[in-house]
Amino acid sequence: MSGEGRLEPDLEEMRRDGYAAIDLLVEHLATLSDRTVGHVGSAGEMAELFSADPPDRGRPFAEVLSHVEKDIFGNSLLCNHPRYFAFVPGPSNFYGVLGDVLASGFNVFTGTWLESSGPAALELSLIDWLCRTVGLPPQSGGLFVSGGSVANLTGLAVARRDRLGDRTDDAVIYCSDQVHASVDKALYLLGFGSYQLHRIGADRHFRLDPDRLRLAIASDRAQGKQPFCVVANAGSTNTGAVDPLAPLADICSDEEMWFHIDGAYGASAALGRRSGELLADLGRADSLVLDPHKWMFQPYEIGAVLVRDRVLLAETFRTSADYMQDAKTIGQEINFCDYGIQLSRGFRALKLWVSLQCLGLDAIREAIDRGIVLAEVAAREVERDDRFEVTSPASLGIVTFRYVGNGPCGDARLDEINRAIPHEIVATGEAVVTSTVLDSRTVQRMCLINPRTSEDDIRRTITMLADAGDRLTRSGTRN
Ligand SMILES: *Cc1c(COP(=O)(O)O)cnc(C)c1O
Repeated sequence: MSGEGRLEPDLEEMRRDGYAAIDLLVEHLATLSDRTVGHVGSAGEMAELFSADPPDRGRPFAEVLSHVEKDIFGNSLLCNHPRYFAFVPGPSNFYGVLGDVLASGFNVFTGTWLESSGPAALELSLIDWLCRTVGLPPQSGGLFVSGGSVANLTGLAVARRDRLGDRTDDAVIYCSDQVHASVDKALYLLGFGSYQLHRIGADRHFRLDPDRLRLAIASDRAQGKQPFCVVANAGSTNTGAVDPLAPLADICSDEEMWFHIDGAYGASAALGRRSGELLADLGRADSLVLDPHKWMFQPYEIGAVLVRDRVLLAETFRTSADYMQDAKTIGQEINFCDYGIQLSRGFRALKLWVSLQCLGLDAIREAIDRGIVLAEVAAREVERDDRFEVTSPASLGIVTFRYVGNGPCGDARLDEINRAIPHEIVATGEAVVTSTVLDSRTVQRMCLINPRTSEDDIRRTITMLADAGDRLTRSGTRN
């Protein structure tokens, strides 16, 4: 590097270092299934690795790159690994990565039309395509945000603004007890007290029961409260359950309430061909959340919020500032800063667009459908092993089951064992599975949306879970 105040290396260095980074990435992806799923370091170990302040004089990129590979990436779990079944995997895809590299490399600013007419038009067209994919009407619109959490916040902000203005005191929001925690966060940020979220016990299929909802609304109205919004799951994080969308939408229209669907996890499956009728009524939402960084195979971060009437987005978020006067738009030109929380925002849409262009929709559809099939395969494997009990059937790529062992064992003890199993598995580096709680009991949960996963990966992992359960039973270990 030379020249005062210059931040760029010479052309040759730039190429060499750039190729080295891409080579590392390609090598990593090509050998993914031969690797362990990663490593979890202790806080002490990690603090030691990163205790030094940044250097005054730079060091060669090759050295930095191997540091990144070994100490940083080496101490994380690989969410795109074929045996990563925890939480919600991020399978990602190579063209999405290249899209992100380009968006970042050209440093595209997508807050205003003035600065990014092409990128804004591309985002609009992808949002329009997503709206049509889920069945929203032509006047719908939306934007890309960091993920489902901010998408829920954005959608619910529009709901609040449209239905309540500034008067939130008596308002009540309804959801099942399977709602995602990001909804709690969003409502808190929007000024609602936790007592204003009316959580209704889910039915035995972990869905919001429309009859219970009607009763809850009637009883709240009788107490002078103001029911204003229903939050439904389209693919709950726990079990992949989809709330009965059509009956819930009917209730919302009868009661003049806002209908928000959290499809962060599951709504992408509407693009595939195997979700059947489950997702047929997504288009009845007033606002809907969908995460391309989950089941549309995009690298982090990209979430989408779609709103039935896009005018409401601008009514909620448009502001004016003197220093922005040159960025005023006319007609169809829109400033995305008027649609959401961010002013400076990157070009998230590009990775999705590049992926769709290079891979084609058929490849994406097949990859989505594969996740649904893999969860069914996993459920069959679990059923075959009498040490397990299926606690929720395969639904949109998720299956849950409980280790019950062979002999008599109390529920409390089984809870301990089921809590300990994931720790045993992750420590081997062979697979990652996480547990959750259903009906007050701890269960194993596998999310199978990674198209790299093979049936053999599934069988190996389920055998490991059962064997870990047996070992824990024998050793009497408490967790
Ligand atoms: C993952 C998830 C979220 C949160 O999305 P992030 O992208 O992690 O912010 C919200 N709702 C559901 C149902 C989810 O599965």
